[in-house]
Amino acid sequence: MPEGPSVRKFHHLVSSFVGQQVVKTGGSSKKLHPDGFQALWLQDAQVRLILHFGGGGFLVFYNCQMSWSSSPVVTPTCDILSEKFHRGQALEALGQAQPVCYTLLDQRHFSGLGNIIKNEALYKAGIHPLALGSLLSPSRLEALVDHVVEFSTDWLQGKLQGKQKHTQIYQKEHCPAGHQVMKKALGPPSGFQRLTWWCPHCQPQLSSEGPEQSQLSE
Ligand SMILES: [Zn+2]
Repeated sequence: MPEGPSVRKFHHLVSSFVGQQVVKTGGSSKKLHPDGFQALWLQDAQVRLILHFGGGGFLVFYNCQMSWSSSPVVTPTCDILSEKFHRGQALEALGQAQPVCYTLLDQRHFSGLGNIIKNEALYKAGIHPLALGSLLSPSRLEALVDHVVEFSTDWLQGKLQGKQKHTQIYQKEHCPAGHQVMKKALGPPSGFQRLTWWCPHCQPQLSSEGPEQSQLSE
């Protein structure tokens, strides 16, 4: 998504056409037919949505995509940054017989958990992204949930203080221990594939024969 300066520059470029009529159209778009603009007049060029409030304050959204939608279904017990976040539900979801990296990104169970948090929490917990939750010990799953919450909370605190969040594995070539990092797009067969980074040494793959056998040497 372009940031403020880019949007401002675009606004500057198109402003000189305000008040002129479209005499011919071209290009293609799946969302609308360019022909529909023919003979229309460009009346204004705005680059953002501004919402003013009674107290004098206002919110400005740069280059946002707008659409009407029904109220989001908010379940605080699944929100990793909510005080009502329910660890029991989270652990139950993670314990499923599917790769933990799929479950972590499932917003029905971990609302607010994105790809960066997924990669970092798995690395900190020393868990391979494709490890089946059902093969991980309860203490490993507990540790994973701890790292998810801790990383997310620290990130939020840092953001509020204007600090940049430093990652240990996300988009890295080497883990902090100096090992070569693996990178692959992973996701459910019919779902969204997300780039995943992991260290094969710090996050060893589990044996598929039975319960977890690999141990970390930390
Ligand atoms: Zn490593």
